[in-house]
Amino acid sequence: MQKEKVQIAGAGPAGLAAAITLARAGFEVQVSEARSGVGQRFGGDLQGLENWTTEQDALEWMQQHGLSTGFEKLACYQGTAFDSRGHTYRIKSQSAPLFYMLERGGEEHSLDTALLRQALSLGVEVKFNHRLKTLTHRGILAIGPRAADAIAVGYHFTTDSEDGFWVICDNTLAPGGYAYLLIMNGRGTVKSCMFTGFKQEQVYVDRTVKAFEKLVGLTMRDPKPHGGVGNFLLPESAMQGQNLVVGEQAGFQDTLFGFGIRYAMSSGILAARSLITGENYSALWRKELEPFLKASIVNRALYNLLGNRGFSFFLKRFSDKQDVRVAMRKHYHAGLGRRLLYPWAKWRYRSQRKDQQCTHTNCNCVWCRGHKTGDHRA
Ligand SMILES: Cc1cc2nc3c(=O)[nH]c(=O)nc-3n(C[C@H](O)[C@H](O)[C@H](O)COP(=O)(O)OP(=O)(O)OC[C@H]3O[C@@H](n4cnc5c(N)ncnc54)[C@H](O)[C@@H]3O)c2cc1C
Repeated sequence: MQKEKVQIAGAGPAGLAAAITLARAGFEVQVSEARSGVGQRFGGDLQGLENWTTEQDALEWMQQHGLSTGFEKLACYQGTAFDSRGHTYRIKSQSAPLFYMLERGGEEHSLDTALLRQALSLGVEVKFNHRLKTLTHRGILAIGPRAADAIAVGYHFTTDSEDGFWVICDNTLAPGGYAYLLIMNGRGTVKSCMFTGFKQEQVYVDRTVKAFEKLVGLTMRDPKPHGGVGNFLLPESAMQGQNLVVGEQAGFQDTLFGFGIRYAMSSGILAARSLITGENYSALWRKELEPFLKASIVNRALYNLLGNRGFSFFLKRFSDKQDVRVAMRKHYHAGLGRRLLYPWAKWRYRSQRKDQQCTHTNCNCVWCRGHKTGDHRA
């Protein structure tokens, strides 16, 4: 029997994970990507594939779901955190890496290229420079963030410094967020990830660079400015008409620290599974993703209350742990406490993005605000 053709908008981790899963099940898949290559909104950014929400290792999880892990990565077991007073805290994970550092963008060794390579080898058609306005077939929307709930701004650079990760929790460098430095194989990313204060972003970036120069002797060669936005939302629905919405376009992302790669790939896989088996996509993501998303909203609301003194307490607590990965996992599981706190947290923390996707059964918009404006075109 001929399988139906599936159209996917967006060749990020969400869209490519969906494409690979569908192609492996024998579907004909066409991915449209607005830009001229994969990962272009990141252009060499170093990021972390988080490895704490599940006991299963994130790379094993990818392999289990048939996704390529043929990208350059650095297993990060330990790093250093600082508070606003410059106190040092060692963060260590023993059982497994806390996260895997990887590169985003179009380079040969990046996550995006590994997924693209795999998709192409499975016969997926990928059309670049093809910004979709409408989906002509039933499809998947994987087109990234819609609003800026947080921004991460700083530089990419080359360096002779050793590999590793460093974090500073200080509202004067990264309001409501954290400043970070990642180095892998002679390449680095330094960023201020802020949840408020966007208008002063350059002030915070300058302070962040200075702080890392002072605390760890950061030296950047050939620094190139880079920044991006993150969008967090627990959507009322991840359907737009008959189309399935995945990744950051749905708002799926860790609301505490902005780790979205795993949610992107998970939701892509779930959407594909729904098309393959006929299972209900809403039921799938609510079961698999919603508990973590809710816990991360509670974590964010609590983090927002901390302030610089609270950050010192939080860092001390985590650096005392033998295995911070295990401690983090507890914070991402919606136990009774977090379930009780959730209504308060939801009220305290509201996304910049209104949940405006349309609910028309036959709508095929790529970015739809139909029910508000009556206009189905983005
Ligand atoms: C600076 C920064 C640092 C980050 N660091 C981390 C980190 O360390 N760890 C982590 O887990 N997450 C991190 N994130 C978040 C993570 O990168 C995202 O959550 C993840 O990339 C989302 O994947 P996605 O596939 O949903 O969207 P994207 O990766 O944004 O991909 C969407 C794609 O759709 C394309 N597109 C857009 N509109 C259309 C259209 N109409 N038609 C066709 N194509 C279209 C875009 O060009 C893009 O290629 C970071 C984000 C930023 C900005």
